[in-house]
Amino acid sequence: MLTRRHVLSTLATLPITGRTASALAFLAPPPPPNPRFTVLSLFRPQRLLLHAQNAPLTVQLDDTTLTLTRTETLIIDATPDALTTNQHPFTTLTLPNPATFALEVPQKLRRTYTGALTLANEQGHLRAVVTIDRELAVASIVAAESPPHAPLAALAAQAIAARSFLTAAHTTHLAADFCDTTHCQFLREAPPPASPFTLATHRTRNLVLQFRDPASANLSTLPAMYSRSCGGHTRTLAELGIPTRGYPYFAVPCAFCQAHPERWRNAPTTHATTELDRLVYNRIHGWSALPGHPDPGALEGRGIGHGIGLCQLGAAAMAFNAATYTAILAHYYPNTVLHSL
Ligand SMILES: [Zn+2]
Ligand SMILES: [Zn+2]
Repeated sequence: MLTRRHVLSTLATLPITGRTASALAFLAPPPPPNPRFTVLSLFRPQRLLLHAQNAPLTVQLDDTTLTLTRTETLIIDATPDALTTNQHPFTTLTLPNPATFALEVPQKLRRTYTGALTLANEQGHLRAVVTIDRELAVASIVAAESPPHAPLAALAAQAIAARSFLTAAHTTHLAADFCDTTHCQFLREAPPPASPFTLATHRTRNLVLQFRDPASANLSTLPAMYSRSCGGHTRTLAELGIPTRGYPYFAVPCAFCQAHPERWRNAPTTHATTELDRLVYNRIHGWSALPGHPDPGALEGRGIGHGIGLCQLGAAAMAFNAATYTAILAHYYPNTVLHSL
């Protein structure tokens, strides 16, 4: 078997001109695996409908394979200790090949995905995990996260931030890397191939942000954070009581939010001063209870979200003023470089 050690020792004995491009390509680290998302978990569904979409769907129920024709739907229910379809109990449903399919929470929501699917029982609810091609996931996130009418340069900056997050973030989800809510990044449906979201993703294909990690002195990919609006300047992790390992983030001025801050009032009386406090408070009182961080001692605030990293409204305004995506990223993420995966 050809091992990495064998290739390294062989290369060491070769004159430099003997190192072929293909041998060096072999040494490149493997691309990171495609991200896995838990989807529709906010609904804690006890029933999901699986729809084929324009092509037959091969479905695996434990050891049983069945085929849904292009117009067929499978109804899947969670019981306290199993999943069932047509009263047939099973443990896991998978789509063995990446496919295009729709999942529906009856009476609530239907979304189309392209990827691999696993459905399992999680304490009497259905847990749906979709593995999506990274670039398709980036385009889907850009479509879900970007303000309406954002110019292409802002979409490209958002694509790079989302791809960096998908590549480097470590989250705490069971059986998946990410969820499809603002806890991680919004993920809805893939945008059409000709949409500006897809175009921005293609233009920046494989590009991520990297920073020099003080712990190792190596370049590391930044799990880039961003929020809707910053209120006039972005925040450091330390300001919001988030422990800083690696990239500290920087408080940079944001011209658009200084001129047009998104204000909100009637902040609840709370001692939430750190980002963790805010998340805990919102987990109890609803995700819009404390939209951002209130001004000190006040019942109002400016800026929606944590205000760390790229400001989506500020980035769109920079792009309207002809800034490139590299200029936008350099502004909101100082001391970073672009790197191709
Ligand atoms: Zn999450
Ligand atoms: Zn801003």
